Amino acid sequence: MTDNLIQRTMSAYNYPLLIKNLLNAPVVDDPQQQIIYRDQLRFSYAEFRQRVCKLANALSSIGVKPGDTVAVMDFDSHRYLECFYAVPMLGAVLHTVNVRLSPEQILYTIDHAEDDYILVNEEFLPILEQIKGRIDTVKDYVLLQDGQQQPETSLNFVGEYEALLDAAEDHYDFADFDENTRATTFYTTGTTGLPKGVYFSHRQLVLHTLGALVALGTPTSQGRFHQGDVYMPITPMFHVHAWGFPYLATALGVKQVYPGKYTPDMLLQLLTTEKVTLSHCVPTILHLLMSHPDFATADLSNWKVLIGGAALPQAMCRAALKKGIDIFSGYGMSETCPVLTIAHVPDEDLSEDEQVEIRCKTGRPIPLVDLRVVDEELEEVPRDGDSVGEIVVRAPWLTQGYLKDQRNSEVLWRGSYLHTGDVAHRNKQNYVKITDRIKDVIKIGGEWISSLEIEDLICALPGVAEAAVIGLPDDKWGEKPLALVVKKVDADLNEKGLLQHIHSFVDKGIISKQVVLLKVQFVESIAKTSVGKVNKRGLRENYQ
Ligand code: AMP
Repeated sequence: MTDNLIQRTMSAYNYPLLIKNLLNAPVVDDPQQQIIYRDQLRFSYAEFRQRVCKLANALSSIGVKPGDTVAVMDFDSHRYLECFYAVPMLGAVLHTVNVRLSPEQILYTIDHAEDDYILVNEEFLPILEQIKGRIDTVKDYVLLQDGQQQPETSLNFVGEYEALLDAAEDHYDFADFDENTRATTFYTTGTTGLPKGVYFSHRQLVLHTLGALVALGTPTSQGRFHQGDVYMPITPMFHVHAWGFPYLATALGVKQVYPGKYTPDMLLQLLTTEKVTLSHCVPTILHLLMSHPDFATADLSNWKVLIGGAALPQAMCRAALKKGIDIFSGYGMSETCPVLTIAHVPDEDLSEDEQVEIRCKTGRPIPLVDLRVVDEELEEVPRDGDSVGEIVVRAPWLTQGYLKDQRNSEVLWRGSYLHTGDVAHRNKQNYVKITDRIKDVIKIGGEWISSLEIEDLICALPGVAEAAVIGLPDDKWGEKPLALVVKKVDADLNEKGLLQHIHSFVDKGIISKQVVLLKVQFVESIAKTSVGKVNKRGLRENYQ
Protein backbone atom coordinates (compact mmCIF):
# COMPACT_ATOMS: atom_id res chain seq x y z
CA MET A 1 0.00 0.00 0.00
CA THR A 2 1.43 3.40 -0.88
CA ASP A 3 1.82 6.38 1.45
CA ASN A 4 -0.85 8.13 -0.65
CA LEU A 5 -3.36 5.75 0.84
CA ILE A 6 -1.99 5.46 4.37
CA GLN A 7 -0.58 8.37 6.32
CA ARG A 8 1.98 6.86 8.67
CA THR A 9 4.24 8.60 11.13
CA MET A 10 7.90 7.92 10.43
CA SER A 11 8.28 5.67 13.48
CA ALA A 12 5.10 3.58 13.09
CA TYR A 13 5.91 -0.02 12.34
CA ASN A 14 4.52 -1.49 9.11
CA TYR A 15 3.72 -4.96 10.51
CA PRO A 16 4.14 -7.62 7.85
CA LEU A 17 1.75 -10.60 7.83
CA LEU A 18 4.40 -13.30 8.23
CA ILE A 19 3.92 -16.95 9.18
CA LYS A 20 6.29 -16.52 12.15
CA ASN A 21 3.74 -14.23 13.78
CA LEU A 22 1.19 -17.04 14.00
CA LEU A 23 3.50 -18.60 16.60
CA ASN A 24 3.61 -15.62 18.96
CA ALA A 25 0.49 -16.24 21.06
CA PRO A 26 0.23 -20.04 21.39
CA VAL A 27 3.81 -20.61 22.46
CA VAL A 28 3.58 -17.93 25.16
CA ASP A 29 0.00 -18.60 26.27
CA ASP A 30 0.15 -22.36 26.52
CA PRO A 31 3.76 -23.56 26.41
CA GLN A 32 2.88 -26.98 27.86
CA GLN A 33 0.28 -27.80 25.20
CA GLN A 34 1.16 -31.06 23.40
CA ILE A 35 2.16 -32.07 19.89
CA ILE A 36 2.07 -35.83 19.31
CA TYR A 37 3.46 -38.10 16.62
CA ARG A 38 1.80 -41.51 16.37
CA ASP A 39 2.43 -43.57 19.49
CA GLN A 40 6.10 -42.56 19.34
CA LEU A 41 6.70 -39.01 20.41
CA ARG A 42 5.15 -36.13 22.30
CA PHE A 43 6.53 -32.72 23.09
CA SER A 44 5.29 -29.30 24.21
CA TYR A 45 4.65 -26.11 22.23
CA ALA A 46 7.68 -24.60 24.02
CA GLU A 47 9.81 -27.44 22.64
CA PHE A 48 8.10 -27.09 19.26
CA ARG A 49 9.23 -23.47 19.07
CA GLN A 50 12.78 -24.59 19.93
CA ARG A 51 12.64 -27.34 17.30
CA VAL A 52 11.53 -24.82 14.67
CA CYS A 53 14.56 -22.67 15.59
CA LYS A 54 16.86 -25.72 15.50
CA LEU A 55 15.49 -26.70 12.10
CA ALA A 56 16.06 -23.17 10.81
CA ASN A 57 19.66 -23.29 12.09
CA ALA A 58 20.19 -26.77 10.65
CA LEU A 59 18.82 -25.77 7.26
CA SER A 60 20.93 -22.60 7.23
CA SER A 61 24.01 -24.63 8.11
CA ILE A 62 23.52 -26.88 5.07
CA GLY A 63 23.19 -23.82 2.87
CA VAL A 64 19.46 -22.99 2.64
CA LYS A 65 19.06 -19.31 1.82
CA PRO A 66 16.05 -17.01 1.36
CA GLY A 67 14.52 -17.70 -2.05
CA ASP A 68 15.65 -21.34 -2.13
CA THR A 69 13.06 -24.08 -2.54
CA VAL A 70 13.02 -26.83 0.08
CA ALA A 71 10.97 -29.90 -0.81
CA VAL A 72 9.49 -32.33 1.70
CA MET A 73 8.46 -35.93 1.07
CA ASP A 74 6.93 -37.23 4.28
CA PHE A 75 3.78 -38.61 5.84
CA ASP A 76 1.74 -36.37 8.15
CA SER A 77 4.28 -35.81 10.90
CA HIS A 78 5.61 -33.40 13.54
CA ARG A 79 8.57 -32.93 11.15
CA TYR A 80 6.21 -31.75 8.43
CA LEU A 81 4.62 -29.29 10.88
CA GLU A 82 8.07 -27.97 11.75
CA CYS A 83 8.81 -27.51 8.03
CA PHE A 84 5.47 -25.69 7.56
CA TYR A 85 6.97 -23.05 9.85
CA ALA A 86 10.78 -23.09 9.67
CA VAL A 87 11.15 -23.20 5.87
CA PRO A 88 9.01 -20.15 5.01
CA MET A 89 10.19 -18.34 8.16
CA LEU A 90 13.70 -18.46 6.67
CA GLY A 91 12.36 -16.77 3.53
CA ALA A 92 12.64 -20.04 1.59
CA VAL A 93 9.79 -21.74 -0.28
CA LEU A 94 8.32 -25.01 1.02
CA HIS A 95 7.49 -27.47 -1.76
CA THR A 96 5.13 -30.12 -0.39
CA VAL A 97 5.72 -32.97 -2.82
CA ASN A 98 2.75 -35.14 -3.74
CA VAL A 99 4.36 -38.50 -3.01
CA ARG A 100 1.44 -40.38 -4.55
CA LEU A 101 2.14 -39.14 -8.06
CA SER A 102 4.11 -41.41 -10.39
CA PRO A 103 7.94 -41.14 -10.15
CA GLU A 104 7.98 -39.41 -13.54
CA GLN A 105 5.42 -36.83 -12.40
CA ILE A 106 7.35 -36.32 -9.15
CA LEU A 107 10.51 -35.74 -11.19
CA TYR A 108 8.57 -33.19 -13.26
CA THR A 109 7.44 -31.31 -10.12
CA ILE A 110 10.93 -31.34 -8.53
CA ASP A 111 12.39 -30.00 -11.75
CA HIS A 112 9.63 -27.48 -12.41
CA ALA A 113 9.70 -26.09 -8.85
CA GLU A 114 13.53 -26.00 -9.08
CA ASP A 115 13.91 -27.68 -5.70
CA ASP A 116 17.27 -26.95 -4.05
CA TYR A 117 16.97 -29.40 -1.14
CA ILE A 118 14.81 -32.42 -0.45
CA LEU A 119 13.88 -33.74 3.00
CA VAL A 120 12.80 -37.29 2.34
CA ASN A 121 11.26 -40.01 4.49
CA GLU A 122 13.11 -43.30 4.10
CA GLU A 123 9.90 -44.91 2.78
CA PHE A 124 10.04 -42.70 -0.31
CA LEU A 125 13.69 -43.41 -1.15
CA PRO A 126 12.74 -45.95 -3.85
CA ILE A 127 10.99 -43.14 -5.75
CA LEU A 128 14.14 -41.00 -5.68
CA GLU A 129 16.33 -44.00 -6.57
CA GLN A 130 14.22 -44.44 -9.68
CA ILE A 131 14.71 -40.86 -10.94
CA LYS A 132 18.06 -40.09 -9.30
CA GLY A 133 20.28 -39.52 -12.31
CA ARG A 134 17.80 -37.04 -13.75
CA ILE A 135 17.33 -34.65 -10.81
CA ASP A 136 19.30 -31.57 -11.83
CA THR A 137 18.52 -28.80 -9.36
CA VAL A 138 18.85 -30.52 -5.96
CA LYS A 139 22.04 -29.77 -4.02
CA ASP A 140 21.48 -31.93 -0.94
CA TYR A 141 19.15 -34.43 0.67
CA VAL A 142 18.13 -34.77 4.33
CA LEU A 143 16.92 -38.14 5.62
CA LEU A 144 13.71 -38.38 7.64
CA GLN A 145 13.19 -41.57 9.59
CA ASP A 146 11.36 -42.88 12.63
CA GLY A 147 13.90 -45.55 13.56
CA GLN A 148 17.69 -45.53 13.85
CA GLN A 149 18.66 -48.05 11.23
CA GLN A 150 20.59 -46.69 8.26
CA PRO A 151 18.43 -47.35 5.16
CA GLU A 152 19.91 -49.11 2.17
CA THR A 153 20.22 -46.47 -0.51
CA SER A 154 22.72 -45.09 -2.97
CA LEU A 155 21.59 -41.54 -2.18
CA ASN A 156 23.98 -39.31 -0.23
CA PHE A 157 22.54 -37.38 2.67
CA VAL A 158 23.91 -34.23 4.23
CA GLY A 159 22.44 -35.56 7.46
CA GLU A 160 19.55 -37.18 9.28
CA TYR A 161 16.81 -34.81 10.49
CA GLU A 162 17.00 -35.53 14.25
CA ALA A 163 20.80 -35.59 14.25
CA LEU A 164 20.86 -32.22 12.46
CA LEU A 165 18.41 -30.79 15.00
CA ASP A 166 20.41 -32.22 17.92
CA ALA A 167 23.49 -30.41 16.72
CA ALA A 168 21.71 -27.08 16.16
CA GLU A 169 21.15 -24.03 18.43
CA ASP A 170 17.63 -23.71 19.81
CA HIS A 171 17.40 -20.00 19.18
CA TYR A 172 17.00 -18.18 15.85
CA ASP A 173 16.20 -14.53 15.17
CA PHE A 174 13.81 -14.73 12.25
CA ALA A 175 14.09 -11.57 10.18
CA ASP A 176 11.12 -9.55 8.93
CA PHE A 177 10.66 -9.38 5.19
CA ASP A 178 8.01 -8.57 2.61
CA GLU A 179 4.75 -10.35 3.45
CA ASN A 180 4.25 -11.04 -0.25
CA THR A 181 7.26 -13.36 -0.26
CA ARG A 182 6.38 -16.78 -1.58
CA ALA A 183 6.02 -19.29 1.27
CA THR A 184 4.73 -22.49 -0.30
CA THR A 185 4.30 -24.23 -3.61
CA PHE A 186 2.80 -27.55 -4.68
CA TYR A 187 1.20 -29.19 -7.68
CA THR A 188 -2.39 -29.89 -8.60
CA THR A 189 -3.48 -33.47 -8.43
CA GLY A 190 -5.68 -33.19 -11.52
CA THR A 191 -5.54 -36.07 -13.90
CA THR A 192 -5.39 -33.93 -17.05
CA GLY A 193 -1.93 -33.35 -18.52
CA LEU A 194 1.08 -32.38 -16.43
CA PRO A 195 0.60 -31.29 -12.82
CA LYS A 196 0.30 -27.49 -12.51
CA GLY A 197 2.17 -25.58 -9.79
CA VAL A 198 0.32 -23.21 -7.46
CA TYR A 199 1.93 -20.89 -4.90
CA PHE A 200 1.02 -18.91 -1.81
CA SER A 201 2.65 -16.02 0.06
CA HIS A 202 3.06 -15.42 3.80
CA ARG A 203 0.34 -12.78 3.67
CA GLN A 204 -2.04 -15.20 1.96
CA LEU A 205 -1.41 -18.00 4.45
CA VAL A 206 -1.83 -15.68 7.45
CA LEU A 207 -5.09 -14.25 6.08
CA HIS A 208 -6.33 -17.73 5.20
CA THR A 209 -5.60 -18.85 8.77
CA LEU A 210 -7.47 -15.91 10.24
CA GLY A 211 -10.41 -16.16 7.81
CA ALA A 212 -10.84 -19.89 8.40
CA LEU A 213 -10.46 -19.47 12.18
CA VAL A 214 -13.22 -16.86 12.22
CA ALA A 215 -15.45 -19.15 10.16
CA LEU A 216 -14.80 -22.20 12.33
CA GLY A 217 -14.47 -20.46 15.68
CA THR A 218 -17.67 -18.43 15.72
CA PRO A 219 -20.65 -20.80 15.30
CA THR A 220 -22.68 -21.17 18.49
CA SER A 221 -22.04 -24.89 18.70
CA GLN A 222 -22.07 -27.15 15.60
CA GLY A 223 -18.63 -27.72 14.10
CA ARG A 224 -16.94 -25.08 16.26
CA PHE A 225 -13.12 -25.23 16.48
CA HIS A 226 -11.98 -23.94 19.88
CA GLN A 227 -9.10 -24.11 22.36
CA GLY A 228 -10.39 -27.24 24.08
CA ASP A 229 -10.15 -29.21 20.83
CA VAL A 230 -7.67 -31.93 19.91
CA TYR A 231 -6.75 -31.81 16.24
CA MET A 232 -5.61 -34.62 13.95
CA PRO A 233 -5.34 -34.29 10.16
CA ILE A 234 -6.41 -37.20 7.99
CA THR A 235 -5.57 -35.32 4.82
CA PRO A 236 -2.03 -35.55 3.45
CA MET A 237 0.04 -32.52 4.38
CA PHE A 238 1.25 -32.31 0.79
CA HIS A 239 -2.33 -31.63 -0.33
CA VAL A 240 -3.08 -27.89 -0.03
CA HIS A 241 -1.30 -27.43 3.33
CA ALA A 242 -3.51 -30.17 4.84
CA TRP A 243 -6.28 -27.69 4.05
CA GLY A 244 -4.41 -25.06 6.11
CA PHE A 245 -5.35 -26.69 9.42
CA PRO A 246 -1.85 -27.18 10.86
CA TYR A 247 -1.53 -23.37 10.73
CA LEU A 248 -4.99 -22.89 12.26
CA ALA A 249 -4.42 -25.46 15.00
CA THR A 250 -1.04 -24.01 15.98
CA ALA A 251 -2.31 -20.42 15.97
CA LEU A 252 -5.18 -21.56 18.21
CA GLY A 253 -2.79 -23.44 20.51
CA VAL A 254 -4.63 -26.77 20.57
CA LYS A 255 -3.26 -30.25 21.18
CA GLN A 256 -2.20 -31.69 17.81
CA VAL A 257 -1.82 -35.33 16.81
CA TYR A 258 0.06 -36.35 13.64
CA PRO A 259 -0.71 -39.90 12.50
CA GLY A 260 2.21 -40.58 10.12
CA LYS A 261 1.46 -43.17 7.48
CA TYR A 262 -2.31 -43.69 7.33
CA THR A 263 -3.46 -47.08 8.50
CA PRO A 264 -7.03 -47.50 9.76
CA ASP A 265 -5.69 -49.22 12.92
CA MET A 266 -3.40 -46.37 13.88
CA LEU A 267 -5.96 -43.71 12.98
CA LEU A 268 -8.66 -45.32 15.14
CA GLN A 269 -6.20 -45.91 17.96
CA LEU A 270 -5.11 -42.25 17.98
CA LEU A 271 -8.67 -40.97 17.61
CA THR A 272 -9.71 -42.77 20.77
CA THR A 273 -6.59 -42.74 22.97
CA GLU A 274 -5.72 -39.10 22.29
CA LYS A 275 -9.43 -38.13 22.35
CA VAL A 276 -9.24 -36.33 19.02
CA THR A 277 -12.14 -33.90 18.55
CA LEU A 278 -11.48 -32.37 15.12
CA SER A 279 -10.28 -33.87 11.84
CA HIS A 280 -10.77 -33.32 8.14
CA CYS A 281 -10.71 -35.83 5.30
CA VAL A 282 -12.08 -36.83 1.92
CA PRO A 283 -15.10 -39.16 1.98
CA THR A 284 -12.99 -42.13 0.82
CA ILE A 285 -10.89 -42.06 4.00
CA LEU A 286 -13.92 -41.86 6.24
CA HIS A 287 -15.40 -44.76 4.29
CA LEU A 288 -12.22 -46.73 5.01
CA LEU A 289 -12.50 -46.01 8.75
CA MET A 290 -16.20 -46.81 8.82
CA SER A 291 -15.53 -50.19 7.20
CA HIS A 292 -12.98 -51.14 9.87
CA PRO A 293 -14.10 -53.83 12.36
CA ASP A 294 -13.16 -51.61 15.35
CA PHE A 295 -15.21 -48.67 14.13
CA ALA A 296 -18.48 -49.94 15.62
CA THR A 297 -17.06 -50.03 19.16
CA ALA A 298 -14.86 -46.91 19.01
CA ASP A 299 -16.19 -43.95 21.00
CA LEU A 300 -16.22 -41.11 18.49
CA SER A 301 -19.06 -39.14 20.02
CA ASN A 302 -16.90 -36.03 20.50
CA TRP A 303 -15.40 -36.13 17.03
CA LYS A 304 -16.06 -33.32 14.53
CA VAL A 305 -15.15 -34.17 10.94
CA LEU A 306 -14.97 -31.67 8.15
CA ILE A 307 -15.44 -33.47 4.85
CA GLY A 308 -14.04 -31.86 1.73
CA GLY A 309 -12.31 -32.60 -1.53
CA ALA A 310 -15.48 -34.28 -2.78
CA ALA A 311 -19.17 -34.12 -1.95
CA LEU A 312 -20.30 -35.74 1.30
CA PRO A 313 -22.83 -38.46 0.37
CA GLN A 314 -26.04 -38.23 2.39
CA ALA A 315 -25.83 -41.93 3.34
CA MET A 316 -22.37 -41.41 4.85
CA CYS A 317 -23.59 -38.32 6.68
CA ARG A 318 -26.51 -40.23 8.22
CA ALA A 319 -24.29 -43.14 9.28
CA ALA A 320 -21.80 -40.76 10.92
CA LEU A 321 -24.53 -38.81 12.74
CA LYS A 322 -25.94 -42.08 14.03
CA LYS A 323 -22.54 -42.79 15.56
CA GLY A 324 -22.57 -39.38 17.24
CA ILE A 325 -20.02 -37.82 14.89
CA ASP A 326 -20.49 -34.15 14.10
CA ILE A 327 -19.92 -34.35 10.34
CA PHE A 328 -20.15 -31.40 7.96
CA SER A 329 -18.79 -30.17 4.62
CA GLY A 330 -16.20 -27.69 3.49
CA TYR A 331 -15.03 -26.77 0.02
CA GLY A 332 -11.89 -25.54 -1.65
CA MET A 333 -9.28 -26.55 -4.18
CA SER A 334 -5.52 -26.58 -4.64
CA GLU A 335 -5.71 -23.18 -6.32
CA THR A 336 -7.53 -21.61 -3.34
CA CYS A 337 -5.22 -22.33 -0.34
CA PRO A 338 -7.93 -23.95 0.09
CA VAL A 339 -10.94 -23.00 2.24
CA LEU A 340 -13.77 -21.15 0.44
CA THR A 341 -16.97 -22.40 2.09
CA ILE A 342 -18.12 -24.30 5.17
CA ALA A 343 -21.55 -25.88 5.72
CA HIS A 344 -22.37 -25.15 9.36
CA VAL A 345 -25.83 -26.02 10.61
CA PRO A 346 -27.60 -22.93 12.01
CA ASP A 347 -28.54 -23.00 15.68
CA GLU A 348 -32.19 -23.88 15.10
CA ASP A 349 -34.48 -26.78 15.80
CA LEU A 350 -34.05 -28.89 12.68
CA SER A 351 -35.20 -32.39 11.83
CA GLU A 352 -32.57 -35.02 11.00
CA ASP A 353 -33.45 -34.76 7.30
CA GLU A 354 -32.98 -30.98 7.35
CA GLN A 355 -29.66 -31.37 9.20
CA VAL A 356 -28.40 -33.91 6.67
CA GLU A 357 -29.46 -31.65 3.81
CA ILE A 358 -27.38 -28.76 5.19
CA ARG A 359 -24.36 -30.79 6.29
CA CYS A 360 -24.12 -32.23 2.77
CA LYS A 361 -24.28 -28.87 1.07
CA THR A 362 -21.04 -27.30 -0.07
CA GLY A 363 -21.44 -24.47 2.41
CA ARG A 364 -21.52 -20.73 2.83
CA PRO A 365 -18.58 -18.55 1.78
CA ILE A 366 -16.29 -17.83 4.75
CA PRO A 367 -15.29 -14.24 5.66
CA LEU A 368 -13.44 -12.31 2.91
CA VAL A 369 -14.48 -14.79 0.19
CA ASP A 370 -16.38 -13.18 -2.69
CA LEU A 371 -18.02 -16.21 -4.29
CA ARG A 372 -20.33 -16.00 -7.29
CA VAL A 373 -22.23 -18.60 -9.23
CA VAL A 374 -22.25 -17.28 -12.79
CA ASP A 375 -23.33 -18.00 -16.34
CA GLU A 376 -20.96 -17.85 -19.32
CA GLU A 377 -21.16 -14.01 -19.40
CA LEU A 378 -20.03 -13.89 -15.74
CA GLU A 379 -23.54 -12.77 -14.71
CA GLU A 380 -24.76 -14.21 -11.39
CA VAL A 381 -27.51 -16.80 -11.73
CA PRO A 382 -30.55 -16.38 -9.40
CA ARG A 383 -30.06 -17.52 -5.79
CA ASP A 384 -33.02 -19.87 -5.96
CA GLY A 385 -31.38 -23.19 -5.02
CA ASP A 386 -31.97 -24.41 -8.54
CA SER A 387 -30.28 -22.29 -11.24
CA VAL A 388 -26.79 -23.63 -11.90
CA GLY A 389 -23.62 -21.87 -13.04
CA GLU A 390 -19.88 -21.98 -12.49
CA ILE A 391 -18.39 -20.99 -9.14
CA VAL A 392 -15.95 -18.12 -9.56
CA VAL A 393 -14.14 -16.54 -6.62
CA ARG A 394 -12.02 -13.74 -5.27
CA ALA A 395 -10.35 -13.94 -1.86
CA PRO A 396 -7.08 -12.70 -0.38
CA TRP A 397 -5.61 -16.23 -0.48
CA LEU A 398 -6.02 -17.51 -4.04
CA THR A 399 -3.01 -18.52 -6.12
CA GLN A 400 -2.13 -15.66 -8.41
CA GLY A 401 -1.55 -18.07 -11.27
CA TYR A 402 0.09 -21.34 -12.21
CA LEU A 403 3.83 -21.44 -11.75
CA LYS A 404 5.66 -20.52 -14.97
CA ASP A 405 2.48 -21.04 -16.99
CA GLN A 406 1.08 -17.77 -18.31
CA ARG A 407 -1.47 -19.34 -20.65
CA ASN A 408 -3.22 -21.48 -18.04
CA SER A 409 -2.96 -18.66 -15.47
CA GLU A 410 -4.93 -16.39 -17.77
CA VAL A 411 -7.56 -19.06 -18.31
CA LEU A 412 -7.78 -19.58 -14.54
CA TRP A 413 -8.24 -15.86 -13.88
CA ARG A 414 -10.33 -14.79 -16.88
CA GLY A 415 -12.53 -11.80 -16.08
CA SER A 416 -10.45 -11.22 -12.91
CA TYR A 417 -12.23 -14.05 -11.09
CA LEU A 418 -10.65 -17.39 -10.32
CA HIS A 419 -12.64 -20.01 -12.23
CA THR A 420 -13.11 -23.15 -10.17
CA GLY A 421 -14.59 -25.35 -12.91
CA ASP A 422 -17.28 -26.40 -10.41
CA VAL A 423 -20.96 -26.24 -11.28
CA ALA A 424 -23.29 -25.28 -8.43
CA HIS A 425 -26.49 -23.60 -7.35
CA ARG A 426 -27.02 -21.35 -4.33
CA ASN A 427 -30.15 -20.83 -2.21
CA LYS A 428 -31.57 -17.77 -0.50
CA GLN A 429 -29.80 -18.70 2.76
CA ASN A 430 -26.50 -18.41 0.86
CA TYR A 431 -25.72 -22.15 0.92
CA VAL A 432 -23.90 -23.26 -2.22
CA LYS A 433 -24.28 -26.82 -3.49
CA ILE A 434 -21.88 -28.25 -6.07
CA THR A 435 -23.68 -30.46 -8.56
CA ASP A 436 -20.62 -31.41 -10.64
CA ARG A 437 -17.27 -30.48 -12.09
CA ILE A 438 -17.82 -28.80 -15.47
CA LYS A 439 -15.89 -31.64 -17.06
CA ASP A 440 -17.91 -34.33 -15.25
CA VAL A 441 -21.39 -32.97 -15.97
CA ILE A 442 -23.32 -35.47 -18.08
CA LYS A 443 -24.99 -33.87 -21.07
CA ILE A 444 -27.91 -36.04 -22.23
CA GLY A 445 -29.83 -34.69 -25.21
CA GLY A 446 -28.55 -31.19 -24.43
CA GLU A 447 -29.69 -31.36 -20.78
CA TRP A 448 -27.15 -31.10 -17.95
CA ILE A 449 -27.45 -33.96 -15.48
CA SER A 450 -25.70 -33.88 -12.11
CA SER A 451 -23.64 -37.03 -11.59
CA LEU A 452 -23.29 -36.25 -7.87
CA GLU A 453 -27.06 -36.19 -7.41
CA ILE A 454 -27.48 -39.67 -8.95
CA GLU A 455 -24.52 -40.98 -6.93
CA ASP A 456 -26.16 -39.73 -3.75
CA LEU A 457 -29.39 -41.57 -4.56
CA ILE A 458 -27.55 -44.80 -5.37
CA CYS A 459 -25.45 -44.61 -2.18
CA ALA A 460 -28.65 -44.32 -0.14
CA LEU A 461 -29.38 -47.99 -0.93
CA PRO A 462 -28.21 -50.13 2.01
CA GLY A 463 -26.23 -52.60 -0.14
CA VAL A 464 -24.08 -49.96 -1.82
CA ALA A 465 -20.53 -49.36 -0.60
CA GLU A 466 -19.52 -46.82 -3.26
CA ALA A 467 -20.79 -45.44 -6.56
CA ALA A 468 -19.59 -43.23 -9.39
CA VAL A 469 -21.68 -42.02 -12.29
CA ILE A 470 -20.03 -40.99 -15.54
CA GLY A 471 -21.19 -39.92 -19.00
CA LEU A 472 -20.10 -41.98 -21.99
CA PRO A 473 -20.33 -40.80 -25.62
CA ASP A 474 -23.52 -41.77 -27.43
CA ASP A 475 -24.45 -41.05 -31.05
CA LYS A 476 -28.09 -40.34 -30.35
CA TRP A 477 -28.02 -38.61 -26.95
CA GLY A 478 -24.56 -37.01 -26.95
CA GLU A 479 -23.85 -38.81 -23.69
CA LYS A 480 -25.44 -41.63 -21.71
CA PRO A 481 -24.95 -42.17 -17.96
CA LEU A 482 -23.23 -45.24 -16.55
CA ALA A 483 -23.24 -46.04 -12.83
CA LEU A 484 -20.27 -48.00 -11.51
CA VAL A 485 -21.31 -49.54 -8.21
CA VAL A 486 -19.33 -51.37 -5.54
CA LYS A 487 -21.57 -53.63 -3.45
CA LYS A 488 -21.11 -54.17 0.28
CA VAL A 489 -20.04 -57.69 1.18
CA ASP A 490 -23.10 -60.01 1.13
CA ALA A 491 -25.34 -57.25 -0.21
CA ASP A 492 -28.58 -58.38 -1.77
CA LEU A 493 -28.59 -55.98 -4.71
CA ASN A 494 -29.08 -56.37 -8.45
CA GLU A 495 -29.31 -54.10 -11.45
CA LYS A 496 -33.09 -54.31 -11.65
CA GLY A 497 -33.59 -53.26 -8.02
CA LEU A 498 -31.11 -50.43 -8.33
CA LEU A 499 -32.73 -49.08 -11.49
CA GLN A 500 -36.20 -49.33 -9.93
CA HIS A 501 -34.93 -47.24 -7.04
CA ILE A 502 -33.54 -44.57 -9.42
CA HIS A 503 -36.63 -44.62 -11.68
CA SER A 504 -38.85 -43.94 -8.66
CA PHE A 505 -37.07 -40.56 -8.31
CA VAL A 506 -37.61 -39.91 -12.03
CA ASP A 507 -41.32 -40.72 -11.63
CA LYS A 508 -41.60 -38.32 -8.69
CA GLY A 509 -39.99 -35.58 -10.82
CA ILE A 510 -37.03 -35.31 -8.39
CA ILE A 511 -34.45 -36.03 -11.11
CA SER A 512 -34.56 -35.51 -14.86
CA LYS A 513 -36.41 -38.10 -16.94
CA GLN A 514 -33.26 -38.48 -19.03
CA VAL A 515 -31.82 -40.49 -16.13
CA VAL A 516 -33.92 -43.48 -17.27
CA LEU A 517 -31.09 -44.04 -19.75
CA LEU A 518 -28.86 -44.99 -16.81
CA LYS A 519 -27.00 -48.29 -17.11
CA VAL A 520 -25.40 -50.05 -14.15
CA GLN A 521 -22.21 -52.03 -13.88
CA PHE A 522 -21.17 -53.70 -10.62
CA VAL A 523 -17.41 -53.44 -10.08
CA GLU A 524 -14.87 -54.54 -7.46
CA SER A 525 -13.48 -51.05 -6.86
CA ILE A 526 -13.52 -47.52 -8.25
CA ALA A 527 -10.28 -45.84 -9.37
CA LYS A 528 -9.09 -42.95 -7.20
CA THR A 529 -6.71 -40.01 -7.75
CA SER A 530 -3.54 -39.47 -5.74
CA VAL A 531 -5.53 -37.77 -2.98
CA GLY A 532 -8.23 -40.42 -2.77
CA LYS A 533 -10.95 -38.86 -4.91
CA VAL A 534 -12.88 -40.70 -7.59
CA ASN A 535 -10.91 -40.43 -10.84
CA LYS A 536 -13.75 -39.68 -13.24
CA ARG A 537 -11.53 -38.91 -16.19
CA GLY A 538 -9.76 -42.26 -15.78
CA LEU A 539 -13.12 -44.03 -15.45
CA ARG A 540 -14.43 -42.41 -18.63
CA GLU A 541 -11.33 -43.58 -20.50
CA ASN A 542 -11.60 -47.11 -19.13
CA TYR A 543 -15.30 -47.68 -19.63
CA GLN A 544 -15.71 -45.93 -22.97
P1 AMP B 1 -8.17 -30.41 -5.46
O1 AMP B 1 -7.59 -29.24 -6.15
O2 AMP B 1 -7.53 -31.70 -5.80
O3 AMP B 1 -8.25 -30.17 -4.00
O4 AMP B 1 -9.67 -30.57 -5.98
C1 AMP B 1 -10.58 -29.51 -5.83
C2 AMP B 1 -11.93 -29.95 -6.33
O5 AMP B 1 -12.53 -30.91 -5.44
C3 AMP B 1 -12.94 -28.83 -6.40
O6 AMP B 1 -12.78 -28.02 -7.53
C4 AMP B 1 -14.25 -29.59 -6.38
O7 AMP B 1 -14.57 -30.09 -7.66
C5 AMP B 1 -13.94 -30.76 -5.47
N1 AMP B 1 -14.46 -30.50 -4.13
C6 AMP B 1 -13.80 -30.03 -3.06
N2 AMP B 1 -14.61 -29.93 -1.99
C7 AMP B 1 -15.84 -30.33 -2.41
C8 AMP B 1 -17.13 -30.44 -1.79
N3 AMP B 1 -17.34 -30.14 -0.51
N4 AMP B 1 -18.16 -30.89 -2.55
C9 AMP B 1 -17.99 -31.23 -3.84
N5 AMP B 1 -16.80 -31.15 -4.47
C10 AMP B 1 -15.75 -30.70 -3.78
